[in-house]
Amino acid sequence: MSARSELASPAVANRSRHSVGSLLVDNIGELVTNVAGTGEGGPLGIRRRAAVLVEQGEVIWVGPSGDAPAADRRIDADGAAVLPGFVDSHAHLVFAGDRATEFAARMAGQPYTGGGIRTTVGATRAASDGELRTTVRRLRAEALRQGTTTIEIKSGYGLTVADEARSLRIAAEVSEETTFLGAHVVPAEYADRPDEYVGLVCGPMLAAAAPYARWIDVFCERGAFDADHARAILACGQAMGLGVRMHANQLGPGPGVQLGVELGAASVDHCTHLTDADIDALASTAVDAQAGPETTTVATLLPGAEFSTRSPYPDARRLLDAGVTVALATDCNPGSSYTSSMPFCIALAVREMRMTPAEAVWAATAGGARALRRTDVGVLRPGARADLIILDAPSHLHLAYRPGVPLIRQVLHNGVPR
Ligand SMILES: [Zn+2]
Repeated sequence: MSARSELASPAVANRSRHSVGSLLVDNIGELVTNVAGTGEGGPLGIRRRAAVLVEQGEVIWVGPSGDAPAADRRIDADGAAVLPGFVDSHAHLVFAGDRATEFAARMAGQPYTGGGIRTTVGATRAASDGELRTTVRRLRAEALRQGTTTIEIKSGYGLTVADEARSLRIAAEVSEETTFLGAHVVPAEYADRPDEYVGLVCGPMLAAAAPYARWIDVFCERGAFDADHARAILACGQAMGLGVRMHANQLGPGPGVQLGVELGAASVDHCTHLTDADIDALASTAVDAQAGPETTTVATLLPGAEFSTRSPYPDARRLLDAGVTVALATDCNPGSSYTSSMPFCIALAVREMRMTPAEAVWAATAGGARALRRTDVGVLRPGARADLIILDAPSHLHLAYRPGVPLIRQVLHNGVPR
């Protein structure tokens, strides 16, 4: 092992010179590690002329290109930029049908109200398991081609005990980050009995969903669930061992963000309409961010939703300047944001929300990992999962600088080239 290979796991020192199954990504022009303080410093931890060695799905060495240990196979990055795979911490992939007509009507002037969710609920309930599975896998593959190596998937278009459980069972086949969103909207058959629906969500629906879910989420918004209902549902989920995340403050100001902070949510998502008190509450959780991600409530911004509903974007600068930890995610869903593209969200964040390219790339990788309370993804260092993107570009800047261009040359997921 070279004395200069300062980022190496003990496994490297002990292994034979030539280990079976190892893969070296070599000749990297710009490596985004997200390890603060390494390389050129800054949150992206950029290193020049670097290499990454992976084995058995894990990064085991990061160092200068010329000092790389031998490996069974080698990928020549040819001077390109390499970054951690994107972590999309907010997506709704289990559904049937689409809402292209609703989109067209909105672009012709109709406002977005969230009411179209019920259209998708009807189509989803009518679909077979096979149809739902095909859609989930198609969208998961689509996201992976665009560099997303970790994706959170929510239920929320079934809204019956059986349909929520099967949605999560199917989601769990393709992701370990699954979220029970029985409280997406009150379904039509409970329109006059929201208290009864909340009882169903907290009782039999949660019991059926929990074995397939890591998280619980509530759409806390006027027209969906108020603070009392949200608090009751999230507390039931916590009692079942699920982590808390929320849809909050998307369509207007409301209690969601501060409720999320109070309950120790990993993330409050959308954050489009925030008061100073909301921002103070979020910033107060970020104070200990360096100590670990377990107490931070991340503000996850979903600019695809504002794009697709032609709505004002969240004020990312205000959040970042206050010290809030910010993530970017797609909100991929058939109604309000039918994109699975993290590069598109990065470009929107830079152009429309005044994030710097570095802030946006961090938010789409390390920020997403924080929002899922993961330390093994969104970062490239020994011990991390071997999720890498090789760009068709010399720098991460090109993700925002060249919007709409397919810049993902190759993806490694769990160390396997895709
Ligand atoms: Zn959502």
